Amino acid sequence: MLIVQKYGGTSVGSLERIRAVAARCVKAQREGHEVAVVVSAMAGETNRLIELTSQLRPGPGDREVDVVVATGEQVSAGLLALAIRELGGQARSFLGHQIKILTDSAHARARIQAIEAERLRACFAEGCVAVIAGFQGIDERGNITTLGRGGSDTTGVAIAAALGADACEIYTDVDGVYTADPGVVPGARKMERISYEEMLELASLGAKVLQIRAVEFGMKYGVPIHVRSSFSEATGTWVVPEEASMEDIVVTGVAADRNESKITLRAVPDVTGVARRIFSPLSAEGIIVDMIIQNISHSGHTDVTFTVPKGDRERAIELLAERCPELTGEGANLAWDDDISKISVVGVGMRSHAGVARRMFEALAEEGINIQMISTSEIKISCVIREKYSELATRALHDAFELERPEGERRALEGERPAGRG
Ligand code: ASP
Ligand code: MG
Repeated sequence: MLIVQKYGGTSVGSLERIRAVAARCVKAQREGHEVAVVVSAMAGETNRLIELTSQLRPGPGDREVDVVVATGEQVSAGLLALAIRELGGQARSFLGHQIKILTDSAHARARIQAIEAERLRACFAEGCVAVIAGFQGIDERGNITTLGRGGSDTTGVAIAAALGADACEIYTDVDGVYTADPGVVPGARKMERISYEEMLELASLGAKVLQIRAVEFGMKYGVPIHVRSSFSEATGTWVVPEEASMEDIVVTGVAADRNESKITLRAVPDVTGVARRIFSPLSAEGIIVDMIIQNISHSGHTDVTFTVPKGDRERAIELLAERCPELTGEGANLAWDDDISKISVVGVGMRSHAGVARRMFEALAEEGINIQMISTSEIKISCVIREKYSELATRALHDAFELERPEGERRALEGERPAGRG
C-alpha cells in the first residue's frame, strides 16, 4: 500500500516526539508500505515566526512573510529525515519547491494547483521514506507561498491525491472526530466513520482536527482520510465517501459555532436589487456571509438578517453605512449582535428521515432557549441562539438525539415517515 502520514505540530513538538514519529514511519515501511510523511512546524513555531515578522510591519499578503513562516516546516522535515536515519531507515526530505507543489500567488492563503509526484516516486523506488514539508508551495514565478493556518493537512491530502495513495493518515493530538466537543459534552462519542459532506458541515468541530480545505480536497479526489492520535495505536475516525448505511444514522453530530455575529437591516424597501445592494459590497471585500433570512414584506418593507464572522462585523457595518446609506441611514435601521452562537445538528440521514427539526426545537424549548434564526440544508439544521446558552444547547441536543449511545441503540424519531424533514 501507499500511505501518506501527516503529523501536526504537537506530534513533532520535540526531538523525543520526532523520534517516536520516525519509529512509526519506519514501522509502516517495514510492513511493506511505501510511505510519504508530511510534517507541520514544531508546536508554537509558526506563531513565533509570525510574531517576529509582524514586528517589522509587513504589508497585507507580504511575500517575505511566507519566506519566514515556511521555515518552520523545513526544520521539522529535516529533523524527521535524520531521526529516521538514526533508526536505521532511509529517508529524504523535500520542500515544496523541490517536489514541486505549485500554488497560486495568494501569499498566506495560497491554493494548490498541481503537484509533480515524480521525485517522490523515485524516492520510494530507492526504498526511502519521503519526508515533505507541509504548509508550503511555490508559485509560477518561483515565490515561496504558504497555504494558511493548518495548511499542512491540505498538503497531506493533496500529496495523497497526487500519488493515488490508499489513505491519508492525519496524526494529531486528539484521537478522532467526536459527536460533539468532548470538553462540553463528557458523553460525546468518537465516530468510526463520517462522510466528507458531514465533516464539512461540522466545520466547527472539524476545524480543530482537520483543515476544512483538506476535507474539500479529499472529497474532490476521493482520498480516504484517517484522523487519529499520534500518541496511541487506536483507530481514529475515517472521513470517507458517503455510504448507503450512513443514512441510517439520522444525526451524526452537534456543533456550536460562537464565531459569528448577526446583522439586521430593518424596514428595507421590498424592491428588486436590494439584496444585491446589501451583499455586493461585503463580498467585494471578501466578507463571508453565512445565514441569510429575509422576511415576508409588510406595506412594502421587509427585514433582512444575516451572519458574518465576528472579526468582520465591524467592517461589515462600516461598509453598509458607506455603500448603501439609503438602506442603513437613520442609524436605527441597522442593528447587530455579537452575543450569538450557531448551533447545528448534522447528518446525511436527514435526507430520508422526518422529525429532526421537531426534536431539535423541542429540546431547545424544554431548556427555555429562544431560537433567533433557523436555516437548513439537506443534511443540517442550524439555529442561532444567545451565546450564553451555547453549551447548554449542545448538551441538550446531544441528549435529545441520544448521541452518547451506540448508533444501533438510538430511539427512532417520532412520527417517522420516509422523506421530508417535518
Ligand atoms: N505550521 C502551520 C500552522 O501552524 C501549518 C500547520 O501546522 O498545518 O498553521
Ligand atoms: Mg493542525
